[in-house]
Amino acid sequence: MTLINKNEFLALDSNTLIASEFEPIVVFARNSHGQFVHIDSVPNGKACDCTCLACGEPLVARQGSKKAHSFAHESGAECQYAIETMLHWLAKELFASRSYFVTPSHTISTSMDGPIRPINLSKVIPSMELQIDSVEIEKRVASVRPDILINVQGKEYLIEIFVTHKCDEEKISKLKEIGLSSIEIDLSKFKLNKVSDLEQVLFFENDLKTWLFDSKIEEARRALVAEAMEEFAKQEIEHNEVNRKRRVRELEQLVKQQTKNQQKISEDENFNEISKSIETEKKLKEIEKIKSSAQKNNWTEAQSHFFHLKNFQTLSYTTIDGGLDLFHGSMEFAYCKPKSGKERALEVFQELNIEFDPIIQAYSFHRSQLKPIIINLSSYSLGIRSL
Ligand SMILES: [Zn+2]
Repeated sequence: MTLINKNEFLALDSNTLIASEFEPIVVFARNSHGQFVHIDSVPNGKACDCTCLACGEPLVARQGSKKAHSFAHESGAECQYAIETMLHWLAKELFASRSYFVTPSHTISTSMDGPIRPINLSKVIPSMELQIDSVEIEKRVASVRPDILINVQGKEYLIEIFVTHKCDEEKISKLKEIGLSSIEIDLSKFKLNKVSDLEQVLFFENDLKTWLFDSKIEEARRALVAEAMEEFAKQEIEHNEVNRKRRVRELEQLVKQQTKNQQKISEDENFNEISKSIETEKKLKEIEKIKSSAQKNNWTEAQSHFFHLKNFQTLSYTTIDGGLDLFHGSMEFAYCKPKSGKERALEVFQELNIEFDPIIQAYSFHRSQLKPIIINLSSYSLGIRSL
């Protein structure tokens, strides 16, 4: 398809209306020579000798004085793709005449949880001005038929113009498969009034254009992910170092605590030593008391000091004829002190050949004999009290 001659037609006048009251109208068609022509460059009515760019049906030129000039299908049919196809052609013609295209900028980002803090990286790939060598419309490339295909220094860029049909995932994955750099221009909500509006979209940076796929963007995305992984690894090292320091700190605290405990133990030992010596001193005092009582021949007092000194456990037996107190403890010897010395229960000691010690006024015996003594004493006992 040959390009139009700008001098011959009004096709590329920026002020050319392509909508009436912001509703798009068909103002371009194909003439009998296959050329892209504007409504005002052809004769009125059927004489225009034009066909629809989308369906190929004959058109009539309506160049009345009330409404904006436009083409209509001779059959009266409402052509679904007439406007969209016209925009494809118009864009193609504009590319051909200007020989450049401004790609959209693109922000790639990656986010992940790092060992210490979240990793959020992003990079802006700026828009570029592509110098177009050639432009083709609806040319099949592998398994896809892009709206517009531009050639830039041997590299093809696909341009999809979205008016009613957005490029779906299936098509995008095909584009990735082919490895074709692709851009979508979203005109679905954009009110085009004049050719200049479309020029604004094509030749300036704006939000209406987005990359569907580009190998350089994919490359940058991979690089960004690699950068994020590197940051992750750095954080991991940092995290391990922090952990190591924490463990060292914990160990130091543990050592400190243990040293403190050790000190406390030795302090306790000191305390025990001191207590022991106090205890010994006490005992010595008691012994002094026993000696002094014995010197005064006060045996009752001496005994009381003695039994106090030994720190005995006492079992007190009550018998029908008196009673007796049994003193025993952790010491090697135990003692039994009768109340009157005439108790029948004392037979137990005589049977065991245990002698009465007059100094302490008690029977003294080895603690191994305690058990049989207690058993035998129980038969004489009316009651036992533990003191
Ligand atoms: Zn049509």
